Formats: sequence, C-alpha cells, structure tokens
Amino acid sequence: MKIPSSHPRYRSLVTRERLVQAWKAGIVVPEGLIAHGRGEAFDYLLGEETSAPALVAEKAAAAFLVRAASPVISVNGNVAALAAKEVVRLAAAIPAKIEVNLFHRTQPRVRRIAQVLRKAGANRVLGLRPDARIPGLDSKRALAQRAGIYGADVVLVPLEDGDRTEALVRMGKVVIGVDLNPLSRTSRHATVPIVDELTRAIPNVGKFVRELHRNPKEGARIVRTWNKSGNLRASYSFLNWRLRTLARGPRKRSR
Ligand code: ATP
Ligand code: MG
Repeated sequence: MKIPSSHPRYRSLVTRERLVQAWKAGIVVPEGLIAHGRGEAFDYLLGEETSAPALVAEKAAAAFLVRAASPVISVNGNVAALAAKEVVRLAAAIPAKIEVNLFHRTQPRVRRIAQVLRKAGANRVLGLRPDARIPGLDSKRALAQRAGIYGADVVLVPLEDGDRTEALVRMGKVVIGVDLNPLSRTSRHATVPIVDELTRAIPNVGKFVRELHRNPKEGARIVRTWNKSGNLRASYSFLNWRLRTLARGPRKRSR
C-alpha cells in the first residue's frame, strides 16, 4: 500500500503497514496487531513523545543494564517488526544477549524472528532451543534458555505480557518493561517500567548506555537510588496534567 507522506498520521500509517506486512510474513500474530492498537491509544493520551518520567526510567534501565552480569533483551514478533535494528544496536552497546521469547510460541515463528534479527546484524540469537521453564507459567509460555533469559540477572522485556513479567520478577530478576500503558500489569510489576513507545524507548536507552559506560559512578548512583513507585506515580501525574491542560482548552491571549 502506498501511503502519502503528506498524511498527518503518516508515521502511524507506515508503522501499521509494517506490522501488517510482518503479519503476512508470519512474524507478527493477530494478537500483536491488537496490542499495537492499545499502545497507540495510550500514545495519543501521552502526547506521542517521551515524557520526563519515561526519560528518567530509560536512564535507570540503562544503568541496570550496564551493571548487569548477564543482561538479556527479549524479542517478540512486534519488537522484531518495529525495532530489530535498534535492538541489535542496543545489545551491542551494553553488551547483552538477545533471546526470542514468544507468548504465542511456534518453532517456525521463532526461526523467522531469529532470521529478522540476524539480518539486522545480530550474530547470536537465543531462544531456538529452550532448555528451561520459568516457574509459575503454564504451557509454551514458560519456555526459556538457561544461557539467556532463564539465567539472566537483568532482562529487558519490551511489550511483554504482565503474567510473564510477574513470573520473571518472582525469579528475582531485575525486569525492565517497555509498555505505553502505565496501568498494565507489566508496568505495575516491572522493576523499571518504561512508559514510552518502543521505537523511541530503545534508542534512548542506548544513548544512556553509552553515556553511563563513560561514567560508571553515575550508573551506580542511579541503581542505588532508583524509586520505581515514585517514577510510576510521575507517569500518572504526567497523564493527569496532559488531560487537565487539554480540558482547560487553549489559553486566551492577553491583550
Ligand atoms: P498486561 O498483560 O501487562 O496487563 P495487557 O494484557 O493489557 O497488559 P499485552 O497484550 O499483554 O497487554 O501487552 C502489550 C502491551 O504493549 C499493551 O499494553 C500496549 O500498551 C503495549 N504496546 C503495544 N505496542 C507498543 C509500542 N509500540 N510501544 C510501547 N508499548 C506498546
Ligand atoms: Mg497481557
């Protein structure tokens, strides 16, 4: 489909088209398209740009990632379709492993997503041969790899399901979520919930990773003083402020 670049929602339309193409290619599942719609709705409410509390969370995420012994980035269909290059770039900067981890898991889809990541520059992709189960989850949703998510101390799980986020937290891991819905179970249970759009969040975290590599003391301080509930409350306040400002309407110009 040809999308006219003059359309006011050009970026959104291109992103949707990208997801539809990825669905046709067997990378994204229909449920992923629904999840994207929910994300877009929250992005509208949040103003479609990174909020100040999200930026703080992105820096905290970077601090946890650079200080981790065994950091892993989890990739599902939507993440592969929208941000494969950005994820590979972030993984190289940390450095972190990448594991394909699907809620609706099938082996051919895992293989296709691993292929997308390799094409984007990843030389090693985990998740093809899971050898462990995350406790407390049923069926294929529990599958993970010991060398990856199962054994990780810090996991970045963009667009993750709340149930799995909770299970990873119960395992004692530092869990970093990326989810535009500040009310989701992922946002409420993650150690570091990033309430921002995926393609803005991942490069921001990457920028902070490079910054904190040069300033390890600051990374240590951020990890020590990280206040998750304070940050999440700031996200709710931000949303509240946005809606209140909109409800007041445009300011009258004083003469
Ligand atoms: P939870 O399981 O955490 O309670 P949920 O069941 O409501 O959440 P899921 O489908 O499990 O939702 O998770 C997908 C989440 O990803 C949605 O909450 C949606 O807001 C978010 N999301 C979708 N696309 C993006 C995106 N591009 N960037 C950031 N967040 C997104
Ligand atoms: Mg869910």
